[in-house]
Amino acid sequence: MERVDEAIEKAIYFLDRELAPSSKLRAFSKARERTHEVGIEELETRTTDETLTDLEGIGPSTATVIANAIRGVECDYLTKLDARSRVRITTDGQRYLDALRGDCHMHSTWSDGGAPIEAMARAARALGHEYIVLTDHSARLTIAHGLDEERLERQLDEIASLNDQLEPFRILTGMEVDIFEDGSLDLSDAMLSRLDVVVASVHSKFRMPSDQMTQRLVVAVANPHVNIIGHITNRKVIGGGRVGSVFNAEIVFAACARFDTAVEINCRPERQDPPEELLALAVEWKCSIAIDTDAHAPGQLEWQAFGCDKAAACGVPIESVINTLSVEELMSWAA
Ligand SMILES: [Zn+2]
Ligand SMILES: [Zn+2]
Repeated sequence: MERVDEAIEKAIYFLDRELAPSSKLRAFSKARERTHEVGIEELETRTTDETLTDLEGIGPSTATVIANAIRGVECDYLTKLDARSRVRITTDGQRYLDALRGDCHMHSTWSDGGAPIEAMARAARALGHEYIVLTDHSARLTIAHGLDEERLERQLDEIASLNDQLEPFRILTGMEVDIFEDGSLDLSDAMLSRLDVVVASVHSKFRMPSDQMTQRLVVAVANPHVNIIGHITNRKVIGGGRVGSVFNAEIVFAACARFDTAVEINCRPERQDPPEELLALAVEWKCSIAIDTDAHAPGQLEWQAFGCDKAAACGVPIESVINTLSVEELMSWAA
């Protein structure tokens, strides 16, 4: 059964890495459930009889992956999927990637992510990271199952016990906190001060007039609890797309530099935020930069390569990238 689990996990990892449609991912999650329901003996019999697809929830692709795992032979489907979903990186980008020691923005099943904290941590460790910051959504983002203080409190307990198991790897506590329209945050000061790293992002009212959006962002940037401003323009460049928010970037980046709040390079393919001309301006203002995946699944942790390419293209000084810091350095920077 272990081999079957492993093969299905791999498929899901590669599909997440290529931002596959959720229907494909659902097919494999469903297949995983189904294989556990029927058990290894029936799977073996059905592999021999070639009747796996008679099982409800098992289609041709999932059946191929399961059958090859049971037979212990190489799976063409997985090999192709692996090759197709590989994240490419330029030589210049690779220098940044080599320098990175962690990832400061990601989600788990506690909010709208697809994997438990432990799976995210293990995948990050396998990529060579020394730490991650777990930043699930705050309570106001109900569609993303955002955490209220009580759930956040419980999450901190889970992280503490995972850290005991995963040592020396570290899961830092954090949250992607919503920025309200007036720039205040969707979490109490008491709770904010208990988190290791805080990402603050706009998830509503993207179309505010420029002067109001500027003020909203500056208030958040100046908040002593905020360490990183997430996906600063909120644009979406894939699918229906979304035009970025309009604000006075000179003022916002001046504030980021003044309060040493990092500007995030959000690596998600549909975000690619900030656009290059804006990132170049942040570099001019000597802002700190965070290269973060905003991963919602383990396979997406590899997307840091996209942000590294962008950092290289925009001349981001490597020493300004906060996730090149060690855990201790990052913690004292964020404190
Ligand atoms: Zn966000
Ligand atoms: Zn996020």
